[in-house]
Amino acid sequence: MKILIIGSGGREHAIAWKFAQNNKVEKIYVAPGNAGTELLDRCENIDLSDIEEMVEFAGKNKIGLTMVGSEELLVEGIVDKFEEKGLTVFGPDKKSAILEGSKAYSKDFMKKYGVKTAAYEIFTDYDSAVKYLDEIEYPTVVKASGLAAGKGVIIAQNKDEAVEAVKDMLLDHKFSEAGSEIVIEEFLTGVEASILSITDGNTIVPFISAKDHKKIGEGETGLNTGGMGVIAPNPYVTSEIMKDFIDDIMTPTLEGLKAEKMKFNGVIFFGLMITEKGVYSLEYNMRLGDPETQAVLPLMENDFLEILEMCIEGNLDKVQMSWKDASACCVVGVSGGYPENYNKGYEITGISDVDDLVFIAGAKLEKDKFLTSGGRVINIVSLGENLETACKNTYSSMDKINFEGLYCRKDIGKV
Ligand code: ATP
Repeated sequence: MKILIIGSGGREHAIAWKFAQNNKVEKIYVAPGNAGTELLDRCENIDLSDIEEMVEFAGKNKIGLTMVGSEELLVEGIVDKFEEKGLTVFGPDKKSAILEGSKAYSKDFMKKYGVKTAAYEIFTDYDSAVKYLDEIEYPTVVKASGLAAGKGVIIAQNKDEAVEAVKDMLLDHKFSEAGSEIVIEEFLTGVEASILSITDGNTIVPFISAKDHKKIGEGETGLNTGGMGVIAPNPYVTSEIMKDFIDDIMTPTLEGLKAEKMKFNGVIFFGLMITEKGVYSLEYNMRLGDPETQAVLPLMENDFLEILEMCIEGNLDKVQMSWKDASACCVVGVSGGYPENYNKGYEITGISDVDDLVFIAGAKLEKDKFLTSGGRVINIVSLGENLETACKNTYSSMDKINFEGLYCRKDIGKV
């Protein structure tokens, strides 16, 4: 079978690596891919500029499965375009991708189907939103409803900060269309968890839990990033918490999908907050997470392609997941200055000295040298019999990697 993966991050390298373990896979095309996918066995990077070109490529090259990582393309309706041409694609159609594309929609969906989530109100009008800010307790959370690459969520400590966030979004259009509708939400205190899952609309199969580390600074401080590291399983997700998640979040979500006739083969990534009052749903993402995927797939004992095929054939209920009895730790090495301004084009050394898994993100190959080409550059992933060993192994491998300005958090797995 030939596969097409759309994306260029560490996540796409990890997906390609996992698919490549299946002997049935003849060829994996990655659009646009990165230096990691370029070097992978049976893998080829290709440039496809828009959805039309992707559909055309998949048709011409008899691609048996396309996997889409980008939320923008999903919300734009890439899956519908593939399906119109009878091509097999893994991901939600446009109608279902709205669960990620609109926080207002997803909060209303959660409320309608009894998915446990923080109290909230939705606004498009500045005056009504500001009036509401008089009635609530602080801190509070102000969210741009549309896609804002993780930057559209403001935790406001007091009313002044909340008014500023509301003004930025509704009056000053700082987030363009994405901020023309906002959600003001009760602030939850607790520990976050991510649970990836796959669904065919009738069944949801959850994967092992993970915990990401979003902030640039140690101790979860500073600016938000695309993700600085992740551990799996998440030590806070006990079997009791998993049961709460299934009862209070996963099962009612599935009921909602069925009732709304959201029928698709794809991923649901549950963003969760574990609080003293139970597990709350923060958000749905409708694709695999980055860097969660880089830690979760190496723990998966099943053949990933086989699971996706069973899902597509309508046999997801027969899938039995099996996970390594180990922990995984993924640490992301980034360019100095990220998530703000940073320089690119520095040579990365030490990759061939690493015995652990290396998933490349923002790096390209030039004359057999790896050069940095993005903010998040490299993911090192180790497994260990426990979390401590996994993290220790990851950091000793990370020590072998070098490039000008390399920064990584030293506390992944500790907070
Ligand atoms: P992502 O970067 O995961 O795509 P997002 O921009 O889609 O995020 P959310 O996941 O809804 O938005 O929120 C981002 C982060 O803001 C969460 O990971 C969490 O740390 C914080 N957050 C969101 N909602 C709440 C809440 N109700 N209480 C406390 N913190 C919250």
